[in-house]
Amino acid sequence: MSEHTSVLIIGSGPAGLTAAIYTARAQLSPIVIQGEPSSTSDQPGGQLMLTTEIENFPGFPDGIGGPELMANMQAQAERFGADLRIDKVRRLDVSQRPFRAWLSEDDEPSITADTVILATGARSLMLDVPGESRLLSHGVSTCATCDGFFFRGQDIAVIGGGDSALEEAIFLTRFANSVTIVHRRDALRASKIMQERALNNEKIRFAWNTQVLEVEGQDRVSGLRVRDTVTGAESELDVTGVFVAIGHVPNTEVVADQVDLLDNGYVHTTLGSFTSVDGLFAAGDVQDHHYRQAITSAGSGCMAAMDAEKWLEARQHG
Ligand code: NAP
Repeated sequence: MSEHTSVLIIGSGPAGLTAAIYTARAQLSPIVIQGEPSSTSDQPGGQLMLTTEIENFPGFPDGIGGPELMANMQAQAERFGADLRIDKVRRLDVSQRPFRAWLSEDDEPSITADTVILATGARSLMLDVPGESRLLSHGVSTCATCDGFFFRGQDIAVIGGGDSALEEAIFLTRFANSVTIVHRRDALRASKIMQERALNNEKIRFAWNTQVLEVEGQDRVSGLRVRDTVTGAESELDVTGVFVAIGHVPNTEVVADQVDLLDNGYVHTTLGSFTSVDGLFAAGDVQDHHYRQAITSAGSGCMAAMDAEKWLEARQHG
């Protein structure tokens, strides 16, 4: 037998959990499918679980650890009666109402829902060069917070020129002997404050105008083969760790072909969190390719909860 809920929230980053806090306080008894701890994109708690220190989330003047912030949000949602589950939505059908969600391979849906708030977030982009996927977790990583510790005293590279790359590089200097930021251009995309911190860090070096051609190594990373994009000259970068920090893709698989997406693959929302499907709302990084902050994600989770609440109310009285 399927169980029914008025609000099904998929995802448990700041967007999903804020939506859970708001809908739970509105007595809507939301079910939150948090994801499974098997991969970065499914990680319960989302990308903040992979973040050490958050200094710009208002209310924490001394900063707060990502996992601690997410644990607080979970406890807050549960306090008001949100039903949080470590599981994964394998299939979602939003072509008819109530919407149907499958958590297993069964024919019968596990959950039917009047509204769904999609808060599945985004995941790391990869370079797609030889050696990268083979050496993932053997010297190649997308998460400095998770893996930095293993690179103590080593020379490592961080790929990318955005805030993520610089944040990872600065964090990694706690462990590494040196960190080389490998960037394909001669100017960074990152915010000025992060640029300043990285440029002033004596453990950080820069390989400008440099494209990665291959991650080298048999069982572990032994170096990078790179090309100078100005001269075309190829060379070796002697590193034993590579952190890829070149951006993200939204996790939209569960609604693929069912909802309007933007050209860049993010869910198209209007008037806050409304999607092209009536009763389906989207919040956080799955629909935000611009701000992508914990605080904007939480804010958009609040908007989705309020939109869903009003939507349900209108149907009840309409
Ligand atoms: P991003 O800003 O999109 O930067 C991605 C970087 O990777 C760019 O420098 C880009 O190069 C490079 N890149 C992309 N594809 C590449 C490829 N195939 N090969 C080599 N390099 C490639 O992504 P992000 O750094 O993950 O940041 C995303 C958003 O989150 C931003 O708005 C950022 O401000 C925010 N953020 C904030 C903080 C913070 O405030 N503490 C921390 C992390 C992220 P080009 O510059 O040449 O395009």
